[in-house]
Amino acid sequence: MPRAVVITGPSGVGKGTLIRSLRERMPDLQLSISATTRMPRAGETQGVDYHFMSEEEFERHVCDGDFVEYADYAGARYGTLRSELQTRRASGKPVLLEIEVQGARQVRKTMPEAVQVFIAPPSREALRARLVGRGLDTPEQVEARLSTAERELDAQGEFARVVVNDRLEDAVDELVWVVDAATAAE
Ligand code: ADP
Ligand code: 5GP
Repeated sequence: MPRAVVITGPSGVGKGTLIRSLRERMPDLQLSISATTRMPRAGETQGVDYHFMSEEEFERHVCDGDFVEYADYAGARYGTLRSELQTRRASGKPVLLEIEVQGARQVRKTMPEAVQVFIAPPSREALRARLVGRGLDTPEQVEARLSTAERELDAQGEFARVVVNDRLEDAVDELVWVVDAATAAE
């Protein structure tokens, strides 16, 4: 079974953008679809971008022990369903998890064989510019995500593999190399 790869880092750093390019370069990669209580954004589809669910449904999964990891993030709940991971892993192809730092810490304990990669911004200013430029969050949400990002950036030292997303093409090249090495070892 190939090892799972966890991609983490602050919101707005470019994880989604990098993963889209990564999947074009590595079409076999399976992306674990997370559960969340946040509202879908324009263009997001149920079961494709997330398993969108109510607080009650999320809490029921917590009580039933259905999550490999879960966390509160900027006013909503996010988690990786065990069933989702099992289905993806059953394909025998490498599986990618895109989660925030608290979840990555839990995975470090529950799935120590998983390879973790922290995506860092070239600077704090660049991170703010990307969050604002993305235009998906209200000014309040941008501030909430930036204050969480401060704590997340402090956690960077916990991760053996850090990829700085400065020039997108360079970061994708580096990520392809890391994921290749992690998943070819099996
Ligand atoms: P995340 O998934 O980490 O929240 P996104 O992938 O949504 O981040 O990226 C946030 C914004 O930053 C998007 O508008 C994206 O186009 C932009 N972005 C991503 N990578 C880069 C980069 N290397 N240089 C400049 N802008 C980038
Ligand atoms: P967004 O609301 O921008 O889609 O995601 C917000 C944050 O939640 C991002 O940092 C993203 O990586 C994280 N996230 C998405 N899915 C999960 C998950 O299943 N578990 C955890 N812990 N974080 C997640």
